[in-house]
Amino acid sequence: MENLLLANQVAIITGASSGIGKAIAIELAKNGASVVINYNSSRERALDTLHEVKAEGGKGIIVKADVSKEKDILRMFDKTLETFGRLDIMVANTGIQVDSPFLQMSTDSWQKVIDTNLTGQFICAREAAKIFVKQVPDPEKTEKSIGKIICMSSVHDMIPWAGHVNYAASKGGILMFMKSIAQELAPLKIRVNAISPGAIQTPINKSVWSDPAKMDTLLELIPYRRIGKPEDVAKAAAWIVSDNADYITGETLYIDGGMMLYPEFADNG
Ligand code: NAD
Repeated sequence: MENLLLANQVAIITGASSGIGKAIAIELAKNGASVVINYNSSRERALDTLHEVKAEGGKGIIVKADVSKEKDILRMFDKTLETFGRLDIMVANTGIQVDSPFLQMSTDSWQKVIDTNLTGQFICAREAAKIFVKQVPDPEKTEKSIGKIICMSSVHDMIPWAGHVNYAASKGGILMFMKSIAQELAPLKIRVNAISPGAIQTPINKSVWSDPAKMDTLLELIPYRRIGKPEDVAKAAAWIVSDNADYITGETLYIDGGMMLYPEFADNG
């Protein structure tokens, strides 16, 4: 493990009991990081992730925390330090959808999505950065990044999404949140980047990929003509938190098979 890309590093991944978060936890572990697998509801699925991490020769723990609750998040950080004694990587991955037409959207479903997707990332990033700074008292004397943060966003940080305005607003918020903290934390040698997936086959969009007609419509929006896999995102995540990407901060990596390329204009518009 010593010569792996992320050897001796510790990472927290929120929402790692399924989908993209699970794939990232496994990929970071494959690259030598010890992983904190956060989950909110299914202990069993979190244990599945841990099992796969261990099968790759990696180390990890599972920690239950609802990222819309500050005290849960603080407990997750305490547990991380108690177990591994340090933190190097924060992957703020959790995101939910509570969809409805705008005119019928309740304040509760607005707030639940903002609390989970946006405020949760704010608290996780802030607590991670506090730890990074304590670990390296004088970051100006260090060459490489002392801590890395990934904010999981979406192509809907740019593409408006009727019927999902709470989700799109949360992801649009993440864009400026990420860039602003990247600007503030760069002198401290903390790198902050976002990953914005297009359509990745996970439980969040099962209603689309499990229906062949909806899948055909979706593929028209993807110039690369396939749905993404969680591993497509996970491999990029492992790279962006590694020293191979050391000069990259404040960027959004769109992993979308070209969904952001205005595919409706491919045939003359
Ligand atoms: P998913 O539903 O498989 O994963 C979301 C995870 O978050 C689950 O493990 C869930 O248990 C967990 N979670 C939900 N509420 C939580 C809470 N309050 N506290 C802690 N954990 C909680 O979906 P996914 O597709 O893997 O989504 C992961 C991230 O990727 C999200 O931020 C999502 O917005 C983003 N994303 C996904 C796609 C896609 O096509 N799948 C596209 C763009 C962005």
